[in-house]
Amino acid sequence: KNRIDILGTEFDNFTEKQFHELISTDLDNKANKFIVTPNPEIVLSARNNNRFSNIVNNADYVIPDGIGIIKGANMLGTPMHERITGFDTLMFLIEQANKKHLKVYLLGAKPEVIKASADRIKREFTGIDLVGYHDGYFNDNGMVAADIEEKQPDIVLVALGSPKQEYFINKYRDRCTAVWIGVGGSFDVFSG
Ligand code: UDP
Repeated sequence: KNRIDILGTEFDNFTEKQFHELISTDLDNKANKFIVTPNPEIVLSARNNNRFSNIVNNADYVIPDGIGIIKGANMLGTPMHERITGFDTLMFLIEQANKKHLKVYLLGAKPEVIKASADRIKREFTGIDLVGYHDGYFNDNGMVAADIEEKQPDIVLVALGSPKQEYFINKYRDRCTAVWIGVGGSFDVFSG
């Protein structure tokens, strides 16, 4: 992979349009993919956490979420096309799911936030088959992963914060052929 190294995190250098085309194709092919969208804080925390750093660098897509990453790339003499935010990627995936009538699973955030996010999807994105959702405050005894496995979504949106969400996806992504993404605090915004 032809990636750009920013303090140990290896970023893909796509335009947002190129990235969206790749994801659209992945969804059409029903590929198993893992997207991470590191911001500068995540890059810094990965420097001191080998386990986390390896998981990030082995993801299928490592997308620069934040102008600080783009500025850092410029300063290091390896400029990148543009910032692509986790939130915009979440919205793109929701729009794709709506258009293509895909199965979606929502995981993470507080119970009332994830419920409000599910309600918004049911109200505004009627093409989506919302197969399940669960809040982000649980002991990982495998029950949530079993629920995802049973429901076999095409897209799994995981909002547990970093590095929790990346650990969860790395551990369970083989249970279900889907596009998996860690979306941080995005449901707190999406829920309205
Ligand atoms: N969160 C969660 N479970 C946890 C910790 C956090 O579901 O054990 C959720 C939290 O409610 C928020 C999201 O993870 O919606 C992101 O949290 P935070 O803002 O701390 O992380 P960041 O967006 O900076 O990665």
